[in-house]
Amino acid sequence: MANRLFGGILCWLGFHDFHVITETFSFGGGGIETVECRRCGLRRTRQA
Ligand SMILES: [Zn+2]
Repeated sequence: MANRLFGGILCWLGFHDFHVITETFSFGGGGIETVECRRCGLRRTRQA
């Protein structure tokens, strides 16, 4: 419970525990990856 609360605070501060869900590679450029926070479930796409 304490860990969950601590994690919630970290997420609230913007320090998410992201892990990669999908990675898309494109020719001539970088890839796009979708990441999800293990704690709060926030999803984000970012340039790999
Ligand atoms: Zn989070």
